[in-house]
Amino acid sequence: MHHRYVFGPLQSRRLGASLGIGLIPSKTCNLNCIYCEAKATTLATNERKEYVPTAEVLAELDDVLKDLPALDSITFSGTGEPTLHSHIGEIVDFLKEKYPQYRVTLLTNGLLLGDRKLQEELQNIDLVIPSLDASCQMELDAINRPCPHVCFEDTIQALVDFKAQARCRVALELFIVPGINDSDESIERFTRHIARIKPDVVQLNTLDRPGVDPQLKPAPEATIKKFLNSIKNVAEVEAIKRK
Ligand code: SF4
Repeated sequence: MHHRYVFGPLQSRRLGASLGIGLIPSKTCNLNCIYCEAKATTLATNERKEYVPTAEVLAELDDVLKDLPALDSITFSGTGEPTLHSHIGEIVDFLKEKYPQYRVTLLTNGLLLGDRKLQEELQNIDLVIPSLDASCQMELDAINRPCPHVCFEDTIQALVDFKAQARCRVALELFIVPGINDSDESIERFTRHIARIKPDVVQLNTLDRPGVDPQLKPAPEATIKKFLNSIKNVAEVEAIKRK
């Protein structure tokens, strides 16, 4: 069977052997991040719909999982924002009912996590890794380049609301972009936002592979240490190991 929506397993720095599920055609997203490895967003939208046929995704998952391969995670990822797919909850429930031995993970930009319906759809997932790359509206516009009318405070509130009701583990990923979100003032603001969100852990990340913007550089160790020293006062925090 040819697989269009299920890929890997790939060896992930954070998740180990990770089988990927790509629910969104390249490159559809509600953000257009300067560090995106999937390159520039060509369809910028906040609309949730069945971008790829759910039945085909489930058939591919059955085809891969029927032999019970050794995996550390089955992960919604790929080249667009997975929560834009309106049947993501159905796929989570299918996996947890039929293949409960596997951990199911969602990598998301977090923008839609305040949506009550999406929160219900994700009730049975094991791990959600939302991004928080901006400590203010200016940084959101510079780093994530959202669809029009995305308000920074709403992105924080979405994460606060999601974590308050989540049964799963929430690992907040903070991507450090030197020169944009790494000033002392930014670090202070991030620390205040994280105290409100109350994630189970914060994972600090920085450029590992070239993104859309070729000028982008990884954060130096000294900067990562500053983030660690501040955030550790309000949450468990770790730096993701670079390759
Ligand atoms: S949210 Fe993810 S997929 Fe969308 S532009 Fe940003 S990095 Fe790329």
